[in-house]
Amino acid sequence: MPLTDSYGRVIRDLRISITDRCNYRCVYCRTGSNGVQYIELPFADYLRLARVAVSLGISKIRLTGGEPLLRAGLLDFVRELASLRTLEGTAPELALTTNGHLLAQMAEPLRTAGLSRVTVSMDAVDPERFARITRVPRSYPAVLEGVRAARQAGLGPVKINCVLLRGFNEDQIEAFGRFAREEQVAVRFIEFMPLEEGRVWTPEVVVPLREVLERMQRFLPFHELPHEPSSTSRRYKFEDGNGEFGVIAPVSLPFCGACSRIRLTSDGKLRTCLFSLKEHDLATPLQAGCSDAELARLIELAVAQKEDRHHIGEPGFVQPGRTMVHIGG
Ligand code: SAM
Repeated sequence: MPLTDSYGRVIRDLRISITDRCNYRCVYCRTGSNGVQYIELPFADYLRLARVAVSLGISKIRLTGGEPLLRAGLLDFVRELASLRTLEGTAPELALTTNGHLLAQMAEPLRTAGLSRVTVSMDAVDPERFARITRVPRSYPAVLEGVRAARQAGLGPVKINCVLLRGFNEDQIEAFGRFAREEQVAVRFIEFMPLEEGRVWTPEVVVPLREVLERMQRFLPFHELPHEPSSTSRRYKFEDGNGEFGVIAPVSLPFCGACSRIRLTSDGKLRTCLFSLKEHDLATPLQAGCSDAELARLIELAVAQKEDRHHIGEPGFVQPGRTMVHIGG
C-alpha cells in the first residue's frame, strides 16, 4: 500500500531542506534573517529519515534549502541517497534546487554522485537586476556558468525557476523566453506566495498565469503541452519547436488536489503543506533512539493529517510562522 493521505492522494515526493543558510539575500525571500539561529541535522539523520520514507513509497527526493550547495559533505549524501531502493526496486529520482552560484564546480561531481536533475532559481536575466534582487554583486555570471555546467554534466532538462513580482521583474518575461531558447533550458515562472520574511505579500503583487501568457504571446507564438495531473506546472512550447516555458500558479490555479509532496525542514520537522500551521517533529524521536518502525509510523500519522488545500487569498488565511527559506522551497 503506497503512502496515501486521508484524501486519497499518493505521496511520492519528499523535499529535504539540508540547511537554512543561504549565500543570497533575495529581496523578497530573506529580508530579516539577522539574529536567526540556523539549524542543520547531521546528514546521517536526513539519510535515515529518507530511507524510512522511501521504504513507505517515496520515489522522488529533492534537496533544497537555504542553499543546499553550501553544505560540506553533500556529495557523499547524494551518493547514499542514490543507493536507496524504492518499492519498485529502482533508485529514487534525485533532484536539487539551487541558486546556482556554486554550481559550475559542483555540477559534474553531483551527476557522478547520482543526482538526476537540477533546478536553478533566477529572477532576472539582466545582470544588474539580478544583482539587485540577490543582493550579491556580480552574481549573474557565476549562475549562468552554473546553468551551462549543469547542462554539460547531463543534469537535464535543466529547469529555471523565476518568481515574478509586480513592478520588479515582470518585464523580464520575454527576455526569459529568449534565454530558454538560447540556453536550451525550461524556464518556469512562479507566482509569488505569502511565504516571505518581510510580510509584503498582497494579491496585487502576484503576476498571474494569464498575464505571463499574454506577455509571452507578444514575444512568440506557443502552444500548451500535456501535463501530468500531479505536475505543479503548465508547460508551453514555442511554435517553431525551439524552447519551452512553464508557469507554476499556486495562487491563481492551485494544484493541491493532486499534491504528492511532503517536506522535511533542515531541523527535522515534517511539513505536509507549504502552508501547514502544524509541523511534525521527527528529529527529537530520532535522536532519542526510536526505531525505524516508529519513525515510519510517525510519517504515516503526519501524512494522514495532510491538509486538503491551502487558503491563500481567502478571508482568515493565516501565513505560516516559518518562511520559504526555512521550510525549503
Ligand atoms: N537556495 C535555493 C534556490 O535559490 O533555489 C533553494 C531554496 S529557495 C527558498 C527555493 C525557491 O523558492 C527559489 O526559487 C525562490 O525563488 C523560491 N521562493 C522563495 N520565496 C518565495 C515566495 N514567497 N513565493 C514563491 N517562491 C518563493
